[in-house]
Amino acid sequence: MFDLSGEVAVITGGYSGIGKGIAEGLAEAGCNIVICARNYERCVESCKKIGKLGVKAFPLRCDVTKSEEIENLVHKTIKEMGRIDILVNNAGVEGKEKPIVDMSDEEWDYVVNTNLKGAFLCSRAVVKEMIKQGGGKIINVASITAFIVMANVSAYCASKGGLVQLTKAMALEFIKYNIQVNAICPGYFSTPMSRRLYKPEMWSKIARRNVPMGRIGKPEELKGTAIYLASSATDFMTGSCIVIDGWQLIW
Ligand code: NDP
Repeated sequence: MFDLSGEVAVITGGYSGIGKGIAEGLAEAGCNIVICARNYERCVESCKKIGKLGVKAFPLRCDVTKSEEIENLVHKTIKEMGRIDILVNNAGVEGKEKPIVDMSDEEWDYVVNTNLKGAFLCSRAVVKEMIKQGGGKIINVASITAFIVMANVSAYCASKGGLVQLTKAMALEFIKYNIQVNAICPGYFSTPMSRRLYKPEMWSKIARRNVPMGRIGKPEELKGTAIYLASSATDFMTGSCIVIDGWQLIW
């Protein structure tokens, strides 16, 4: 049931942090992988490592805020890999920590266009291939900030709240195409993004205070959930959000 051999997954932002954990997890389940991001060299490097797991791994440059680059991503993936079974909308940015009154139009747009519009644009393009193939799986990487807010990260929280609603809207519209759309909502995870915000010692303190499990997550702890959502185990599951946060939301 959890064997993804012969399938093809596109993971946006898949060379780093959470995306890397998910890409490695899907590859360990036998899935062929396409990794895309703005930094092509990092995608190439990551694909070399994933290729050692015995699957095909193909790097592509793509900015998820640009429709024409996404069309190119889909076109080149189909040419190289033949199909797309799984799309992981993982690419995301945190933006600058700023109060709403000081935030510029550009700062707002940068975060919302990447985290929310990017998932819409990628899904819209990839779904056309999934429809031709008779089905597929979309996994959106949202966040617990879809449900709780923090000060000075309004665009991020709004983008993730929007992504959870987009997950449900797509789930409903794509039922007739046999495409299941679900979201993973991580709490704090140790990644380059979280390390840009605080040093590891600070994260230890924050986790002791805010996370009942007393620590932040590791990207590899999302592998199992990604495999589950990509597999036939979830053929009757759509529009759901799986929270993985050391129980922070309940605290
Ligand atoms: P990282 O900064 O480590 O990785 C982000 C990835 O997204 C990079 O590969 C980056 O590559 C890519 N990316 C950013 N902008 C674009 C773009 N416009 N087009 C294509 N790719 C892009 O962050 P994380 O691994 O922490 O985050 C991954 C996802 O998980 C994000 O959506 C984030 O919001 C979410 N998340 C993270 C949490 C955490 O605690 N770390 C908690 C909850 C959710 P490049 O810059 O080369 O384009």
